[in-house]
Amino acid sequence: NPHVDPALVERAREIIGRELEFFSERTPRSAEWLADAEQSMPGGVPMAWMRSLYRHAPVVAVRGRGAEFEDLDGNTYLDFNACDLAMPAGFAPEPIVRAIQNQALLGNHFLLPVPDSVEVCRLLRERFGLPQWQFTLSASGANADALRIARVATGRSTILIFDGKYHGHLDQTLWSRNEQGGMDADLSGLDPASAQGTDMIPYNDPQALRDRLARGDVAAVIMESALTNCGLVKPTPEFVEALNTEVRAAGAVFIVDETHVQFAVHGGGTSFFNIEPDILTGGKGIAGGVPIGVYGMTDRIAAVLWDHRDHDPGLEEVNDAHGLAVGGTLYGNALSLAAARAGLSEIFTPEAGQRVDELGKKLQHGLQEQVDRVGLPWKIDRLGGRIQWRLTPEEPSNGAESFASLVLAIADARKVFMINRGVWDSIATAGPSVSYAMDESGVERYIALAGEFLSELTRGVS
Ligand code: PMP
Repeated sequence: NPHVDPALVERAREIIGRELEFFSERTPRSAEWLADAEQSMPGGVPMAWMRSLYRHAPVVAVRGRGAEFEDLDGNTYLDFNACDLAMPAGFAPEPIVRAIQNQALLGNHFLLPVPDSVEVCRLLRERFGLPQWQFTLSASGANADALRIARVATGRSTILIFDGKYHGHLDQTLWSRNEQGGMDADLSGLDPASAQGTDMIPYNDPQALRDRLARGDVAAVIMESALTNCGLVKPTPEFVEALNTEVRAAGAVFIVDETHVQFAVHGGGTSFFNIEPDILTGGKGIAGGVPIGVYGMTDRIAAVLWDHRDHDPGLEEVNDAHGLAVGGTLYGNALSLAAARAGLSEIFTPEAGQRVDELGKKLQHGLQEQVDRVGLPWKIDRLGGRIQWRLTPEEPSNGAESFASLVLAIADARKVFMINRGVWDSIATAGPSVSYAMDESGVERYIALAGEFLSELTRGVS
C-alpha cells in the first residue's frame, strides 16, 4: 500500500509488542483457563477459529449486556466487532431474552411448523421484498440450499463468485482464481473436485460478467450486496444494472448474500443499491445469537423448490425421483423463529436502522477528523453503521484492490491498543460496526481512543 509509510508499519510492530505484554498483564486468568482447556479442546477453544481469528490470545468471556461484555479477569469491553455481525443486537437484548424464555417453556422444536413462522416471513418480506422464505441454522446453510436450488432450477452446475467474497464454509465458494488463471483454495481441506464447478471474476466488472455468462454453463451467480469480508467495496450502478438484467437473461439464478449488509442498512444492500435477486440469503444476528439462516425467493424459484421436494416415492407422486437436497432436522425450529420474530420486530426496526446510520455517520466523521489531524492521506469509508478503516485516499472497486489496501500490522496494533483500553475493535478485514445496542457516548469513546492510537502510531514518523 503506497499510502502507508514503511516507518508506520515499523512503529505498528513496536506498538504490538508493547501492547501484547500489557494485554498479558491484564488477562492472567483467561491465560490460565486457556492453558487448562488445551487438554480438552485444540488450542483451548471450542472452535479453533476463536484462537486464530484475533491474532492475540482470546479472552474468556463471562457475560455481556447491551454493547459491553466482561472477561474472566473482570475487564469490560465496548464491542465494535459484534461477533463479526453475529451479535448486532448487542448482548442479552430484552425482547430476544423474553422470546427465548417463553419459547423454551413451550418447547424449542417440533419438526412441525409453528405459528411464528408466517410472522417472521412477513417481517422479512416487508424488509427485503421477496415473497417466499425458508430457514436454516446459519448463513452458510442458507447459501448451500440456495446453490442447490439454482442447480436444479437450471440443470447446470457452475457457480460464479466474485473476488473478495465470503459466503460461508462451503467447498465451492472457498476457491479463488489465481493470477495464472487456475483456482486456489482459500483454506485447506476442500474437496479438490469442487473447484471444477466454480469460477471467479472481479467484482464491479460488467464486461467480465457478460463474457463469463455467455459460455452458457452458469447455474448461479452469488454476490455479496457489498463486499464486506475484504474491507468494504460497494457495487457501482453499472455493475448492478448488468447483474439485474443479464444473469436471468443468461438462464442463471441470481443469488444475493445479505448476511452482513442487512445490519449495516435497513432493507440490506438489495434495497440500498437496487439489486434484484432471485434468491436472497442471510442469517447471523437476526435472532440475537440463536442460530438461524434465512433465504427468500421469488415465486418462480419457490415453485422449483416445491416441485422437487423430497418425498417418499412410495407415498407421493412428484416429478422427480430424487428430492432437492435442502433442509436439516433443526432447521425452522421454534426457538430460532421466536427469537427472529423478536429481533426483526423489536430490535432491527426502520427507526433503529436510521439511528445506527446516524451513529455510523458520526463515527466516520469523527475518525476522519482524527486521521486528518495526524496528516495521513486515508479516507474512512462507510455503509450505514459499518465503517471501514481505509488506508488509501481512493475507494477500491474490487476485492484485489481492497485486500491490497489492508495493512495487517496497523490493524493488529490498533486492535490490541484498543482492547487494553476497554474497546473491542473489529477484526482486521471488517469494521468497526455500530451495533443496535450502541449509543452516542460509545461512538465518542471509540473516536477518542482511535485518536490516541493514531497519535501513538505517527509520533516521530514524518
Ligand atoms: N455470508 C457472508 C457475506 C458472511 O460474511 C458470512 C460470515 N462471515 C457468511 C455468509 C457465513 O455465515 P455463518 O458463518 O454464520 O454461516
